[in-house]
Amino acid sequence: MRDYYQILGVPRTATAEEIKAAYRRLALQYHPDRNPGNPEAEERFKEIAEAYAVLSDPEKRRLYDRYGHAGLQSSGSPVPHFTTLEDVFSYFANFFADDFFGDLFGPSSHRAQATAERGTDLRIRLRVTLEEIARGAEKTLEISRWNVCQRCGGSGSLGGQFSPCPQCQGRGEVQQVSRSLFGHVIQLFTCPSCSGSGVIPRSPCPECGGEGRLRGHATVAIRIPPGAVTGTQLILRGEGNAGRRGAPAGDLIVLIEEAEHPHFRREGADIHASYTLSFPEAVLGTTVEVPTLWGTVPLTVEPGTQPGTVIRLSGQGLPIADTRRRGDHYVHLSVYIPETLTDEELNLIERLQKSPNFYPPDRRAQQPQEKRRDNFWKRVRKARS
Ligand SMILES: [Zn+2]
Ligand SMILES: [Zn+2]
Repeated sequence: MRDYYQILGVPRTATAEEIKAAYRRLALQYHPDRNPGNPEAEERFKEIAEAYAVLSDPEKRRLYDRYGHAGLQSSGSPVPHFTTLEDVFSYFANFFADDFFGDLFGPSSHRAQATAERGTDLRIRLRVTLEEIARGAEKTLEISRWNVCQRCGGSGSLGGQFSPCPQCQGRGEVQQVSRSLFGHVIQLFTCPSCSGSGVIPRSPCPECGGEGRLRGHATVAIRIPPGAVTGTQLILRGEGNAGRRGAPAGDLIVLIEEAEHPHFRREGADIHASYTLSFPEAVLGTTVEVPTLWGTVPLTVEPGTQPGTVIRLSGQGLPIADTRRRGDHYVHLSVYIPETLTDEELNLIERLQKSPNFYPPDRRAQQPQEKRRDNFWKRVRKARS
């Protein structure tokens, strides 16, 4: 068990004000609204809440100072143990009213307010090719979502008149009281009748039944940024589901997925491809045209190129995000060995087989034809010119 003062980063002599300030600072840093989907931040947030729950309570703090963690456990003043984020919010909602998180974070989903619930976010996956990632691309997507009802303009009411919601008396939230370790806990939920708006239409729109929105389709244009990677999220604000009765729409979150390329393999901003040379090309050297994401590029193969040689085409890879630079295109060379031979070819190869130059250097050491090897390339170059 960690020391509560250490958790909040304050000395044991800290005043109540200093403890509160330290907690505010840390709560802001690890608040789930600022660290979505980060379990470590969530753990820290619960840990600092527990430390603050003890050190902000004079009786609990006195016990802790004298007897440590054990003192609190054996007292009639137990330590709240926060297992979920909701525990933290409901605990502090009771003890500090709403000045505490309210002025820090503004109206948030964790704070009770008669504001209508925002429409939900939509998530879609979008497969894009390496060519599209290279240049960036415009895509249009057909999505199915809740759209604002045109008949009532999203209000859900014909004539625009509303009455207070009978279920929540206009508060937009309903309470549920339960008992827990630290006494009564009041949990607040968004009112299901009015979705948190606190009002209901006097004469509901017949088109949408008072919902203010209808199930439908939409066409959305999306720009794929050059250099995007699998996992890149594009967030289109307000392009998600429309909220009920004029509440703000959610977001459309597009998750980029890179489609597998038939010839190229990606490594960051670099592209790797293979090219197979014929045996004479590898021996004599050649210039071939190789495809890249930016079109075909001439590739010079030196005489005597070994299989496995990698040639780098600088700047022919993918754009590097936020720069004007590009990665490189690597061509991995291999050599095709003929699988069938005519009699004439067989004769030629059998003659070549006797030449030590056709053996790797470590295997021709004992052979006496050193001179012939030295002259080999001269003759090759002569033959090509
Ligand atoms: Zn209500
Ligand atoms: Zn309507």
